[in-house]
Order: sequence, then C-alpha cells, then structure tokens
Amino acid sequence: MMTEPNGRSCMPGSDDVSADGGVFEELRQQFRIFVSDDVLFRKFVEFCNAKARQSGRLAFWQAELWNSFVAKNREAAVFADAAILEAFHVCHIHMLPLQSVEIPIQKGLWSVTRTPDIDAQINREAPFSESYCLDSSAWGNATHVTVDHCDECVAERRRIEGTGTP
Ligand SMILES: [Zn+2]
Repeated sequence: MMTEPNGRSCMPGSDDVSADGGVFEELRQQFRIFVSDDVLFRKFVEFCNAKARQSGRLAFWQAELWNSFVAKNREAAVFADAAILEAFHVCHIHMLPLQSVEIPIQKGLWSVTRTPDIDAQINREAPFSESYCLDSSAWGNATHVTVDHCDECVAERRRIEGTGTP
C-alpha cells in the first residue's frame, strides 16, 4: 500500500466509511447505549483492538457483556467475534475508524528519551499515532511495520509534542 510521507494512507476513498460502516456504526451506538457506562464501553473498544485482536476472540468479560447485549438485541446475534472486532475497529478515544498504515523502523534507534509525563499523555490521549518504530532485534530485515492510525490521535500527538510535522 502506498503512503504519503506523513504516513496517511493515500488510497482513494480510504477515509470514507465503508459499505458496512453504517451498520457497524449503528451497532456501536446501540451497544454504547446498552452499556451506558462510558468507561466500560471504551474499555470494551480498547480491548477489541489489543488483546482480542491478537487472539481473534473476545475476552471472557467482553463475551459476557456482548451476550447480555444480544439477549436484548436479538438482531445482533448474527455478528460473530470477527465481525464484532471489525465493527469496533475504532479509536477508543475519538471513535474514528482505525486505518492501517506502514511506518518506518528507525534502524539503529533503540530508545528515545522523553519525559514519562509526555509518554503517559500520548498513551492516554493519542494511542494510535506512532509515526515511526524503534529498532529491535525482532524486526530482522524488515524496514516497515503496519500499525493502526487514528487521524485525531495523530493530530493530538503533534499538539502534545509541540512539533508540528516531523
Ligand atoms: Zn484517536
């Protein structure tokens, strides 16, 4: 996939909501209303894009919450775990669809010195905003890795770091 220098996807229409976007957005809204606890709802979304995405399955507590939602919204029973993970592939802070982008591995750069405060703020407010990746022996000959980006996270990170464009 081609990317512009700033890492945003430049595939035509990639910012558009997909054909399933309306269905998924409605599903998220229904589920959000059902959960009615904003912290719990965001935690559910966050897990969908972390642990659950690695395993391909909802965590036990997520499945329990989802099943109680389905008990009241029978039409949602058609969604298998894979479809649920797809529907909740959004930023848990900004609720924008996550986009796969390739970011460069900075060969020879093993660590950066930043204040813990800034790191914590980025993790909290702009989690989907990495513009490059530190080197690691695990990468082998790879030069790029694919990560999830949220447009608002990327903008927020620039604001936090006060750097404008890198
Ligand atoms: Zn975001």
